[in-house]
Amino acid sequence: MGRVLVIGAGGVSTVAVKKMVMNADVFTDIMIATRTKSKADKIAEDSRSVKVQTAQVNADNVSELVTLFHSFKPDLVVNLALPYQDLSIMDACLAYGVSYLDTANYEPLDEAKYEYSWQWAYKERFEKAGLTAILGCGFDPGVTSVFTAYAAKHHFDEIQCLDIVDCNAGDHHKAFATNFNPEINIREITQRGKYFEDGQWKETAPLSVHKPLDYPNIGPKESYLMYHEELESLVKNFPTIKRARFWMTFGQEYLTHLRVIQNIGMSRIDPVMFNGIEIVPIQFLKAVLPNPGDLGENYTGETSIGCRIRGLKDGRERTYYVYNNCSHEAAYKETGAQAVSYTTGVPAMIGAKLFMEGIWKKPGVWNTEEFNPDPFMKELNEQGLPWHELFNVDLEL
Ligand code: NDP
Repeated sequence: MGRVLVIGAGGVSTVAVKKMVMNADVFTDIMIATRTKSKADKIAEDSRSVKVQTAQVNADNVSELVTLFHSFKPDLVVNLALPYQDLSIMDACLAYGVSYLDTANYEPLDEAKYEYSWQWAYKERFEKAGLTAILGCGFDPGVTSVFTAYAAKHHFDEIQCLDIVDCNAGDHHKAFATNFNPEINIREITQRGKYFEDGQWKETAPLSVHKPLDYPNIGPKESYLMYHEELESLVKNFPTIKRARFWMTFGQEYLTHLRVIQNIGMSRIDPVMFNGIEIVPIQFLKAVLPNPGDLGENYTGETSIGCRIRGLKDGRERTYYVYNNCSHEAAYKETGAQAVSYTTGVPAMIGAKLFMEGIWKKPGVWNTEEFNPDPFMKELNEQGLPWHELFNVDLEL
């Protein structure tokens, strides 16, 4: 049905490509292009039913990307590199004339700042070119945004309070490791908390607001309020929302390591001189931490991510909790990657599949909640991320 070019060869790419290979009727030709070609080759080696091509590319370089697009002629470019590359890849897509999908919003390298303004500014250019750009098609953002759209479509006349809850109750048996790219992860977690209430954004000190929340099949876990990018698009696309927050669980051991990393300056994103060369401490830290893509082997336990929603239906208050639980062991058995890579890579493949099938295809730049949620929800059940609904339960929030 179509040719897909995946950029990046980390944990998320590993899962997305394996799932694309399993949907070979849709993804007839696959290429993985990344900075270190041997990593793409390793993913390609595991595929049997479809021949996966590989290439080396610097995704910061627009002309290199355009040359690659001319040689492979993709119908869709799936960006699973880092958020720093979003704009150069979108520029290359416009220059060549191909649609685009990613899982994380653009971040400037020198500032940990999360907002969609840079990518939303491409809307008119994608519209005029007749191209689709699907933003944030991982789990959060991605599935959590589709969960909200599904709730708004089927269960509420008015969503008033939205709490996105993200629990990783897994154990990778390492003293300290991050579940996806350490640089991106630590930048995200150490920023100030932010939530939306009564038409305003309110800020909190980093990880200062927390409470135990009960997760299905897991039990109570301390959950910390932090800013997450999907809040920005969701309050814009669902203007009835009065309060929107994001919560994530962290263990004490993880938080202790994080505090030490910050206190000793290893989370700095500005360059420092070391032995006569410039290094960025957080990039050096990434080089010595465990590779998130390799955590799968002994990872036990599961993740639970969902939306807890309060609002009105037929004039009466209703509560609703929609969530997915994903086992690290099962994810590893199927794809060789842990559940955080799995829960991001599977939705990226589903978004790409719906684009190829012409179901999620419209000129412009869109967040996932702006498409019909129903076919995506159906695919989640079929592609390994089944979801569950609870009605009129205590949301604890
Ligand atoms: P990894 O660090 O494991 O992989 C990133 C890949 O991108 C690596 O193969 C890296 O190459 C490649 N890359 C980096 N810079 C360039 C460049 N300039 N040119 C070409 N390739 C480049 O990250 P993950 O797989 O963990 O995460 C991938 C993306 O998914 C990230 O953007 C992350 O923020 C996002 N994500 C989204 C989630 C969601 O739910 N929405 C959750 C988790 C992650 P090399 O191997 O040479 O370093």
